[in-house]
Amino acid sequence: MARFDERTGRAHRAWGPGIELGPLKDIEDVQEALREVFAQHPGLLGTHLDSLTLGRSGYVAHTDTWLVQLEQTVAGASLWRGGVMARIKQGRLVMFGVDTMDLDPNKTPTISATEAAHLAVISGPAGNSRHTEASQKLVWLPVEEGGSLQPVLAWEVRSKTAHPVGHWVSFIHADTGALLNVHNEVRFFAGEVLAEHDTRTVDGEMSISPMSYIRVDDGETSSFTDSEGLWEMDTLSPVRGDLVGDYVRVQNDGGDDAVFDLLEGTITLTESDASQAELDSYVFQHQVREWALRYAPDLSLIYSRLNVYVNLDDNCNAYFDGSLNFMRAGSGCNNTARIADVNYHEWGHGFHYYNLVSGDFDGSISEGVADVISVLLTGDPLIAPYFATSGSGIREVATNRVYPTDWVGEVHTDGLIFAGAVYDLWAELEKTKTEEEAYDLVSTMVVEAMRAGPTIPDAFDEFVVADDDNGDLSDGTPNLCAIVEAFGAHGLGPGGNGGLVSLSHLPVDNQVALEDVVLDAELLNLAPSCVDLDVTGARVVYSTNGGVTWSEEPLDVDAESISGAIPGQSNGSTVQYYIQVDSADGTKAFSPSGAFINPFTFYVGSLEPIYCEDFEDSDGDYEHELLAGEDIEGADDWQWGTPAGMGGDPDAAFSGSRVWGNDLGGGEYNGEYQNDRHNRLSSAPIDVRGHSGLVLQYRRWLQVEDGYYDQAQILANGDLVWTNHGTSRSNGDEHHTDQQWQLHSLEIPSDGSNTLTLSWDIISDRGLSMGGWNIDDVCVYGIPEAGSSTEEGPGTGEEKGAYTGGTQLGPYGSKDGQGCGCSSGGSGSGGLLWLTGLIGLAAVRRQER
Ligand SMILES: [Zn+2]
Repeated sequence: MARFDERTGRAHRAWGPGIELGPLKDIEDVQEALREVFAQHPGLLGTHLDSLTLGRSGYVAHTDTWLVQLEQTVAGASLWRGGVMARIKQGRLVMFGVDTMDLDPNKTPTISATEAAHLAVISGPAGNSRHTEASQKLVWLPVEEGGSLQPVLAWEVRSKTAHPVGHWVSFIHADTGALLNVHNEVRFFAGEVLAEHDTRTVDGEMSISPMSYIRVDDGETSSFTDSEGLWEMDTLSPVRGDLVGDYVRVQNDGGDDAVFDLLEGTITLTESDASQAELDSYVFQHQVREWALRYAPDLSLIYSRLNVYVNLDDNCNAYFDGSLNFMRAGSGCNNTARIADVNYHEWGHGFHYYNLVSGDFDGSISEGVADVISVLLTGDPLIAPYFATSGSGIREVATNRVYPTDWVGEVHTDGLIFAGAVYDLWAELEKTKTEEEAYDLVSTMVVEAMRAGPTIPDAFDEFVVADDDNGDLSDGTPNLCAIVEAFGAHGLGPGGNGGLVSLSHLPVDNQVALEDVVLDAELLNLAPSCVDLDVTGARVVYSTNGGVTWSEEPLDVDAESISGAIPGQSNGSTVQYYIQVDSADGTKAFSPSGAFINPFTFYVGSLEPIYCEDFEDSDGDYEHELLAGEDIEGADDWQWGTPAGMGGDPDAAFSGSRVWGNDLGGGEYNGEYQNDRHNRLSSAPIDVRGHSGLVLQYRRWLQVEDGYYDQAQILANGDLVWTNHGTSRSNGDEHHTDQQWQLHSLEIPSDGSNTLTLSWDIISDRGLSMGGWNIDDVCVYGIPEAGSSTEEGPGTGEEKGAYTGGTQLGPYGSKDGQGCGCSSGGSGSGGLLWLTGLIGLAAVRRQER
């Protein structure tokens, strides 16, 4: 049987019962036996036996089969894939094939091998690539022409390229130099995928970027483009691409997921291949991933496949819930997936979550971090321009928000405090470093500090730890001053809430008449490597008439120690005082920080304890009520318990663990009193029989707006005995903001009653609200009758049994005092150290190095 090739008229394959060839030891025996067979049938060959040479041949032992190829070689060139083949099984020729041609034995090439190699490169598909391992040989190439095959003498040129990957086989006409054929033995189908996308937001400006790591698929196997959008595939099937990327998978909630045909060479995806939201989000997510590869290379988020849903059927928002979710355009907003800033921000939440090594995932700082990521990627403090179709953005990080004053309890707004600090840190670093160094530093610090999971108030400390380079924070850190400066501007760190210098002062307690009231204070430079103290003087300013007039005494300043005295006062005086420090540039600092607004107080003379309540075992039978304003949850916000440190409140009681206060914070409560309310806390009636003069002493931590607007009041049997300081100005900002528990001494005029009921009121307007009252250790004392009281000192008091102290300080608040549960900041000499902020002390900032 035979199958002929009609183009050559030769028996391409012939087979039958087999021809016995005799014993065959080796390929030489086989070749000889074959030649004998063909010598008897010269018409089969169509060429001389002499032109056949042994080609690639071999033996398969387990089937006892010889596979033989005899090449047709004429004029020093073999016929390409031609010649004679034979199959010899168990010594019998069972099949042969003849693919020979009539070749001209006198033919010689016109083109040289070197010329051919050059022509192969420049005429071929990889003409701009570097070709290596080039080789050339002459072959007879069968070329189909008018239904028959004609042999053409050609140079077969082989070479390799790396980009694109190629093992090239080219045939150059030996006479004309024409490229007859070229193929790549590496069957890679290769291309480049780009996409047109919104440059940053939906403002009409478009860019083209590579589609990194998208999936390419030929129906059987899939691979991914590289970071440059380049792909190659060992296939001959059609290749398609989609957005199921190696690291980011974008899914279209508003329709079918994008699938597109990929062709050899460069293609640029547009809205005809996928929705713009899909393309944009894919590109933006890879941009922020690049940032993380550089600064957070161990972040697991960037090695798993992040799911991104776009075109969600809702408007004006985006969120992170393990996946990223972006809403379609509508309600005055653009499609959020089409805004780079929103993509970076939502990814930032994922970064915050996966970057945590310790600490907590706090909502406010998470918003801050997310905005920081956006700012680091765009370089713009404005977040998401064209979020609204009108063009407006959603937030601006540069807004100078300060902790805790600007804390509002809304995570995005509160997050700006942190984001603003980091933005300012970036700017601070740029003052002394190159742009690139500053960017690297701020990026690295964000990554390292956020591993600790700080809240906003603790963020400063973690940045310092992140900046440390020698495992010793006591010797500063390389960029400490920049961190102090930047965070201080937002009320964070030692530079916040009072400046880089603090004044520690232990307020004096009740005093003995006519004796100098000795005071001391200590200046603390909280960032000595960043600022120099330049104090020119200090004084104590005091009043004995409720703040109507003030006197002052100079204090000695010795390095950082301040000391002096208030002159002795007469019996029965209530003294208010504050310490003032002056600096070289004319700025002043005070302790307490509010100075005359919330001065320290003490009483002069002996007192007889009548009543004390520390609110530990019970609420003291105090009652509270709403006197005016809408009666909603939290309107009457008096609470007995432990303050939570919110809204300016303390985070602990003065003594024990319980106090009375307005909105102690926690749960749905933010620590602040409500606007437009009047509520009141009243004590149980206190038996004051036999006492004509009374003194109220209690511990106060009060935060209330300028009295022009909001009033904190104390009433005795319904009569007003104290109210907070206020201006007479509609722009008044002299708020009462205690930043420590303060002893408040207040003389209560007698109204002749046998009982005394004390009330603490808060009366608020529609504007700013603050932390309100926090009250602990309420005591009422009797002033000894004239004649029995004394200006002679402690002795008299002891005789009356009212004196249990024994130091120069009065005894009245002492824990030892007649079962009074009150404790006193003044009762121990080595106890509490009051830290009060200095406002704007001339901390002369050293030139940064
Ligand atoms: Zn957010």
